[in-house]
Amino acid sequence: MTTMVTGGAGFLASHLCDKLLEKGHQVICVDSLITGSMRNVSHLLGNERFKFIKHDVTEYIYAAGPVDNVLHFASPASPADYLRYPIETLKVGSLGTHKTLGLAPHKAAKYLLASSSEVYGDPPVHPQNESYWGSVNPIGYRGVYDEAKRFAEALAIAYRRASGTDVRIARIFNTYGARMRLDDGRAIPNFMCQAIRGEDITVFGSGEQTRSFTYIDDTVEGLIRLLEVDREKLGEAPVNIGTPAEIKLIDIAREIIQITGSNSKIVKLPFPHGYEDDPKVRQPDISRARNVLGWEPKVDRIEGLKITAEYFKQRLKEGGD
Ligand code: UDP
Repeated sequence: MTTMVTGGAGFLASHLCDKLLEKGHQVICVDSLITGSMRNVSHLLGNERFKFIKHDVTEYIYAAGPVDNVLHFASPASPADYLRYPIETLKVGSLGTHKTLGLAPHKAAKYLLASSSEVYGDPPVHPQNESYWGSVNPIGYRGVYDEAKRFAEALAIAYRRASGTDVRIARIFNTYGARMRLDDGRAIPNFMCQAIRGEDITVFGSGEQTRSFTYIDDTVEGLIRLLEVDREKLGEAPVNIGTPAEIKLIDIAREIIQITGSNSKIVKLPFPHGYEDDPKVRQPDISRARNVLGWEPKVDRIEGLKITAEYFKQRLKEGGD
């Protein structure tokens, strides 16, 4: 079984590469390294079933030999990153999805798209299930990511309908764990680094906004099940992959202070430039994942945060990025 993973040197997909190798796949990891890092896959470079190709998937993708699965995970994925790389974000979600979708039928491969809870935007419907269409500002700063993912879903489904490609769409909610970049800009890396360094914890806005944070191992397990589930059982609709355990940002800041044994104070700051459309709530309805994949997250947040805190402590001890 040969599986191509785009964005494979990123936080999430590098863990997916690990899991696929563990399951006996040959893995072709493709990454432009704009936001991904060789550090995430350096431990795999000696594995003969692992191949790394530095390539921007918005350009034609050449793959010699058979490919059984194409997993498209390439994209800047934190609000700070898509603010920094707006065009790249739009291109990898549109042109990159087009190129990877072109490859899949050519190789008669299954196709798994990493979509996002961002397709729901700032949702008036709560919790979000897959039949909700979303509330996205197309010209907002985070619109570059949201609309790229929405377009990617539209294109993937069009390929399924036009060419019969076996397309599977995951709407992935906030995921955390080891290998997140220290300067990634997201809440958990920021709060972890700030707490460990004894700096102020920067909560944007009132801190009343909510997210539902899933530990990396749970997300990876959900994605593997989505890849493997019987086609007939899955149907056409996307599947939410996330935890229903919703928490206010201010409360996760408190948890991180406690877990790291920090003396840091929480400071509330106005939303920075680019955070104008920050969703006020986010929680997945995972009935579909439970029914179709027999999956739900297992790792309790405190347990996951403790493991993650060890990673951040180690990275900071080594001197950071
Ligand atoms: N956030 C925060 N302080 C930070 C970074 C993020 O309060 O230093 C907030 C952000 O405004 C959002 C939430 O944390 O409401 C989650 O943001 P993140 O960037 O982790 O991901 P998002 O879910 O917005 O994509």
